[in-house]
Amino acid sequence: MNRKGVCTFVSDAICYIKYYLAMWLIENFTSQKRVFDRSDAEMHSIEATGIFCQGIEIINAVELIECYEENVFQAKICDVCTFQDCKSGDYLTIRRAGEYITFIPAFEIMETKNDWERGIYKPPYYIRSKGCPILTLKDYDNFRKSVPFLPYLENIPSLKMKEAVRILQQECRWGILGSFPDMPALKRLDIIFFDDSSTRELLETFIESLQDKLENISTVQLTRKKVGFDIPTYIIDVKSFPEWMPVAIKDNTMYIHFESGFVCV
Ligand SMILES: [Zn+2]
Repeated sequence: MNRKGVCTFVSDAICYIKYYLAMWLIENFTSQKRVFDRSDAEMHSIEATGIFCQGIEIINAVELIECYEENVFQAKICDVCTFQDCKSGDYLTIRRAGEYITFIPAFEIMETKNDWERGIYKPPYYIRSKGCPILTLKDYDNFRKSVPFLPYLENIPSLKMKEAVRILQQECRWGILGSFPDMPALKRLDIIFFDDSSTRELLETFIESLQDKLENISTVQLTRKKVGFDIPTYIIDVKSFPEWMPVAIKDNTMYIHFESGFVCV
């Protein structure tokens, strides 16, 4: 089954993903100096460092970006004038989830805004097309040496349950669970329930539990240790019949299971 693909269409409100969108590990990254030609803003050019991973520019000007109090920062500042907040979008926030650090959309800020204001804080395109970057704690140490505006490990807030729900909703392909800021709800009927473990009833119960968790601010961790978890497989009834495994079950408790294989515990 071909699970590699591309984002076919992105609007401000909906990320409609054809094949694959998941949290992705930053294991190797590079720093590259670049020159911002600011002549259109009637300023002299300036040099700053961009951070790249898997061919994606994650941060465009390390020296010119600061992290705000809420641990929110604009990952890609305006390249015409290089001032933060000049343009809309490209905002991220940082979270710790057990043994990992992840960069996620600033859901907590966006959920307090109206549609127009929400657009100001929307995440970078790579989040909406590829998923949230994630680092091990050890790699974060190294990453922060290149991106010193990021907070020290001990100052990074923990990922909250309600944010994990939003990450799952964001990464579900074909808009299966709808999109932020709407409540997660099953938006497609062409899901195949093909064995005893992947039943419609289970899925509906799981989605109801996600709705309940939207107000849940308890902290959660990510783990890849899946021993003992039952992970039912659903199939989307479209051309390539992709698998969908949003839920992991252990001791009769349902957990969020991300495409990347992380379980939220
Ligand atoms: Zn500007």
